[in-house]
Amino acid sequence: MDLTLSDDQKAFRAVAREFLDKEVLPHRAEWDRAEAVDPAIIPKLGAIGFFGLTIPGEYGGIGGDYITYCLGMEELGRADSSVRGIVSVSMGLVGNVLLSHGSEEQKQQWLPQIATGSKLACFALTEPGAGSDPGNLATSAVPDGGDYLLSGQKVFITNATWADLCLVFARTGGPGPKGISAFLVPTGTPGFETREIKGKLGLRGQATAEMPPRTLTAATAGALGLAGAVLGTVAAYIAAIAYAWDNPLDGLSELSSVPTENLLIILIGMPLIAAAAGWLLAGREPAAIAHQPIE
Ligand SMILES: Cc1cc2nc3c(=O)[nH]c(=O)nc-3n(C[C@H](O)[C@H](O)[C@H](O)COP(=O)(O)OP(=O)(O)OC[C@H]3O[C@@H](n4cnc5c(N)ncnc54)[C@H](O)[C@@H]3O)c2cc1C
Repeated sequence: MDLTLSDDQKAFRAVAREFLDKEVLPHRAEWDRAEAVDPAIIPKLGAIGFFGLTIPGEYGGIGGDYITYCLGMEELGRADSSVRGIVSVSMGLVGNVLLSHGSEEQKQQWLPQIATGSKLACFALTEPGAGSDPGNLATSAVPDGGDYLLSGQKVFITNATWADLCLVFARTGGPGPKGISAFLVPTGTPGFETREIKGKLGLRGQATAEMPPRTLTAATAGALGLAGAVLGTVAAYIAAIAYAWDNPLDGLSELSSVPTENLLIILIGMPLIAAAAGWLLAGREPAAIAHQPIE
């Protein structure tokens, strides 16, 4: 495994760092106090390519690999983690799912706008009763003619009040993670409502919102599309959580007894783990992609 950065990766990191030092770092305290980053930063981030890091050129992105993605997120996080969250949710959580599971029509419709930051996306999985345990989410999706009716409540949804598009997870089947589907819902859909959550302790600059209990018509044929198809990605997310659940308290108690010097090793090791994961993904190593069925 060669973890040496390529010239392109180093060049992107240098451009990203210079831009963020100038455009984000000087404002982060002010944005934190105001509980909102300046929206004018979004098109600037788009122009540098942050929103299209892993999205191929044919869909308006810069087609970088996952190591470039990690470098971008590292630099964004160093400058202002709220800004990192805005990008990682819109592009990382929604753009990448759309890329791997969307129809060609959906990709053509949304990816070029997400990749340039001209439209923002949000990812609505968490509910009041389903955070660490999203496989038990309660929002329902019921077929209604050519549409689906989505009924439920979501919380802690990053970008929700700013977004143009929302990837909503809802139950179309039986209990557990296998019964969950995902829907692409334009935020202008009648019934789509968000209320911003204020007074957070961290990540204050990014808009985090709740979506109160509602029933909304998710989609016409063009707007809906990932029902069922995205299960693999959700399953991977849930599988990771389920794996951690095998020994949740062991993990916590082990961490609290780690000496400081070992914590430093963890901090230094984290970027290496991220780089290794990026390298494995670039080579499409099966071990890197947790598309394992949930039992
Ligand atoms: C700023 C912010 C932005 C967010 N953005 C998004 C977003 O864009 N989209 C989205 O879908 N969600 C988002 N979330 C939600 C986030 O994913 C959830 O907060 C997270 O999954 C934890 O869920 P919870 O808050 O319900 O906590 P809970 O699941 O209630 O957990 C509370 C605590 O109990 C512990 N715990 C829970 N169950 C167990 C167990 N069985 N054993 C041991 N310990 C346990 C947890 O580790 C945690 O420390 C966001 C949250 C925040 C704070």
